[in-house]
Amino acid sequence: MNANNADHAEDSRRVIATSLVDTFRAAYGADPSGVWSAPGRVNLIGEHTDYNHGLCLPVAIPRRTFVAARRRADRQIRIASIQVPGEERTVSLDTIAQGSAGGWAAYSAGVLWALEQAGHAIGGLDVVVDGRVPLGSGLSSSAALECATAAAAVDLFELRGLDDESGRRRLVAACIRAENEIAGAPTGGMDQSAALLSAPDTALLLDFDGDHPPHRVPFELTARGLEVLVMNTRAAHALGDGQYGNRRQECETAVRELGVPSLRAIAPVDLDTTLARLSSDVLRRRVRHVVTEIARVVDAVAALESGELDRLTGIFDASHASMRDDYEISCAELDLAVDTARATGALAARMTGGGFGGSAIAVIETARREEIRSAVERAFEAARFREPELFTITADGPAAREL
Ligand code: ADP
Ligand code: MG
Repeated sequence: MNANNADHAEDSRRVIATSLVDTFRAAYGADPSGVWSAPGRVNLIGEHTDYNHGLCLPVAIPRRTFVAARRRADRQIRIASIQVPGEERTVSLDTIAQGSAGGWAAYSAGVLWALEQAGHAIGGLDVVVDGRVPLGSGLSSSAALECATAAAAVDLFELRGLDDESGRRRLVAACIRAENEIAGAPTGGMDQSAALLSAPDTALLLDFDGDHPPHRVPFELTARGLEVLVMNTRAAHALGDGQYGNRRQECETAVRELGVPSLRAIAPVDLDTTLARLSSDVLRRRVRHVVTEIARVVDAVAALESGELDRLTGIFDASHASMRDDYEISCAELDLAVDTARATGALAARMTGGGFGGSAIAVIETARREEIRSAVERAFEAARFREPELFTITADGPAAREL
């Protein structure tokens, strides 16, 4: 990231945070104690691998969710969001576990519940949210909201969780519990790790086979005249609608049939003989995706670490085909975005995130940005799809205090 970009990013974060102080004051009649933020993410590669004890490689993006917050004397959590006007919620820390924190507020209130469950002294909060991560677009607005809330709680209740990596990893665990148990979304942990553990100009190699610290992989494309184009298709996407859980269950079934501890335990060289032992073609395709996708993460990391970025072309192509044909989580909009970007000269492209809509990414030459953008826009128009949201990113830093 060059100095101008960095300055600009800092400026806009400050502007958003300052404006959120005004919103908080207008909503609750008092100043917040501070403003915190956490980033959304794109996953470079490694999809649906986290819950299979596999590998993934997310990058935090400079689209962040901001929360302004202030402690309350009681155990109520009052929360409003600029993105859902008129839907202010108040939930009590004493009733959250029974499901009272329904809907969007669960992502925030659930974090306070999970921190209390982990033994921390937590009280009530007034919270106002401004989420600049597009909601429900596969860029992880949910974890950004959780992790920004966690950052606020850490400071306001003096938990010291942001000071070092082990503290941040404990926060990751609390945010995962909030999403799984209170918001009811059975996601696997990549998003929360990206939001709390990322670093500028690096991708985060996460290994979900046991409790491993993240490995940081250099991801600075600017010097090579490259950048990442995010293509938010705005196609319908809801991880809660059962498809995500369905894929998880299929993997669990395969694990039972094979008698392995997890799909991670299958070595790529044993793939064919292993697949032959499964009871259905669907399970064979699901397992093939997971095993080959984990291997592709290893290949992508090697390509980044050695600077052989041309190798990403084939790795991303194979990944997208695997998600489209074997895991069946792509859709017409994602395929069109990926195919158009590749046909217009993108070095590499693939869908990213849980799938069923959401976003795709392309590694492109900065010099070809406008050409590729307008090709994707024209293709979407011709197909009568919704207008996509296209923006380029650099790898951003983790959850932090803003004001
Ligand atoms: P993604 O994480 O890819 O954006 P999810 O379906 O996991 O998609 O999470 C989106 C949900 O998170 C929203 O439907 C909403 O409930 C909640 N959410 C995220 N950001 C905000 C926000 N700024 N304001 C209100 N709710 C939000
Ligand atoms: Mg999410």
